[in-house]
Amino acid sequence: MNKFSKQSASRLASCHPQLQKVFTKVLEICDCSILCGHRTEVEQNALPSSNTQVRFPNSKHNSVPSKAVDATPFPYDEDDRERFSYFAGIVIGVGASMGIVIRWGGDWDRDNELKDNGFDDLMHFELVE
Ligand SMILES: [Zn+2]
Repeated sequence: MNKFSKQSASRLASCHPQLQKVFTKVLEICDCSILCGHRTEVEQNALPSSNTQVRFPNSKHNSVPSKAVDATPFPYDEDDRERFSYFAGIVIGVGASMGIVIRWGGDWDRDNELKDNGFDDLMHFELVE
């Protein structure tokens, strides 16, 4: 049975209960890591612009609890877009089965077309309100 590391678990704990629910189920299907939940002002504004397009408080990572989570399949290869896409399909599908709509940073406009994505943030998942 897959299990979150202590770090992953504490990062996920800073996220909205709906994200916690989804990723707890996702972990049963696919081993994964949580890289980031809530981000403070200092943490948000320290990010290079190659990693984010927004400054505090405009990221969904900045709300309390966080409405965004950065997660990867474990282990992962940054350049393996296919693996991220597979993982994102699991996350979005698990969310949908719970009535929770999730937007992935590999398909911001949620049209299920992955080649038209202008800014890739393949680890990023957020709640759609
Ligand atoms: Zn993110």
